[in-house]
This record gives sequence, C-alpha cells and structure tokens, in this order.
Amino acid sequence: METPNLRIGLGSDLHRLKENVPLNLGGIRIESAWGCEAHSDGDALLHALIDALLGASHLGDIGEHFPPNDPKWKNAPSKDMLADVLLLIEEKHPHFYVVNVDAVIQLEAPKLLGYRHAIQANIAHLLGMDVERISVKAKTGEGLTPIGTHEALATQVVVLCDLG
Ligand SMILES: [Zn+2]
Repeated sequence: METPNLRIGLGSDLHRLKENVPLNLGGIRIESAWGCEAHSDGDALLHALIDALLGASHLGDIGEHFPPNDPKWKNAPSKDMLADVLLLIEEKHPHFYVVNVDAVIQLEAPKLLGYRHAIQANIAHLLGMDVERISVKAKTGEGLTPIGTHEALATQVVVLCDLG
C-alpha cells in the first residue's frame, strides 16, 4: 500500500469590525450589526482556509496570491479566490485532496450556532467534500481582547491534505 503524502496546513485571519458592513463567514451571510472591514468581501473564515491550503501545499500565502491593492479583488467573493487556489494546487498536485478541515471563529456577537450547519455545508460544497469532514466552531472573547469588545473578528483553520 502506498504511503499517503499527508500535509497539515494552518491559516489564521483577523479583521477589524465596522458597523453597517455585511458579515460573511464561510460564504454564508450572517445577520449582524457589524461586518469585516476589508478589500474583498471580508470572509475571514475563507481567508484562513485559503492560507491553510496554501500552507499544506507549500504554495506561499494569501497576500502573495491576492495582493490587497489589486483592483481585481475589490469586493470579490472569497469563494472565487478559494476556487483559484484549488486550481493552483491541483496544477502542482493533480491527486490532491483535503482529508478534513477544523476551524474556529472568534466573534463576540452574534451567536453563530444557528449558522454552523450552513457554514459547514457550504465549505463542504466549495471543497467538494463530505460535510462530516468539516468542523466549524465558534468562541466569544468573554468580553476581553479586541474580540470581546466587538472591535475584531479572528479565525483559525487547520486542514489535513493528501498531496497524492
Ligand atoms: Zn481576511
């Protein structure tokens, strides 16, 4: 039996929160008074996922592939960036697949539990994976740090990939 060519990838993201800006997480629109200040659609969960995939496949980082000053990505849906990155990885590793994804969203409000299934299902759809292999958890900042004072939202994602 061939040994799997397994690689772990870690991604994180942080955005300043702003009032009256839409909040997108994992490609799902969240009802919220605050959204992420960003050049793109500010989807901090997909940004961290992209960075984790780039890390696992040794292809650099999100800032390198999608410079924040590039007008092409202004208000761009992050799912388009993710699709670009998956193509890039598949070019280098044609048998590449993702084994599983585990993610944490740090946000003081609103509560994300009601969105969890939709976010997990959408990420599974974007990666062409079974939803059982995608885990998204939410944590508050307990009133502490810029998370707890509604100034920021942070995300962390780990992925396990088989480069084939
Ligand atoms: Zn971001």
